Amino acid sequence: MILVSACLVGINCKYDGENNKNDKVIEYLKDKQFIIICPEQLGGMSTPRDPSEIIRLDGEAVISGRTSVITNKRLDVTRKFKKGAQESFKIAQIYNCKEAILKEGSPSCGSSYIYDGTFTGKKVEGVGVTTALFKSKGIKVISENELL
Ligand code: SF4
Repeated sequence: MILVSACLVGINCKYDGENNKNDKVIEYLKDKQFIIICPEQLGGMSTPRDPSEIIRLDGEAVISGRTSVITNKRLDVTRKFKKGAQESFKIAQIYNCKEAILKEGSPSCGSSYIYDGTFTGKKVEGVGVTTALFKSKGIKVISENELL
């Protein structure tokens, strides 16, 4: 069973109320069993919502309490991001998921890069909060960009 970011298959759960529908992902999943998740919604955030970024570091640092997640209005949403990661992991455990395809660049779902917390579009190497938790629990995470 594969966990997939819901926005990648066309669900309008993105912060702006839109989605990141990706035909390559949909084609890849067509003969496979998968479950869609949106960690930010599972963490209790509304849709649409203000965009969020991790300050300077990445999701691993959020999990270990070394940095925070904030919205573009400087509201601290760290607790919601952590909750979203935990609820997503609960789903992974229930369905014994060992792999996930998560949206690149997201403060929850990113697996190679995220944004640096300045809301200026500057990318930094690192993972989102849910990706960090998944990886620490042995779940393999790839992004839509890694599908052939
Ligand atoms: Fe997509 Fe993940 Fe953001 Fe939800 S949290 S909208 S699944 S990238």
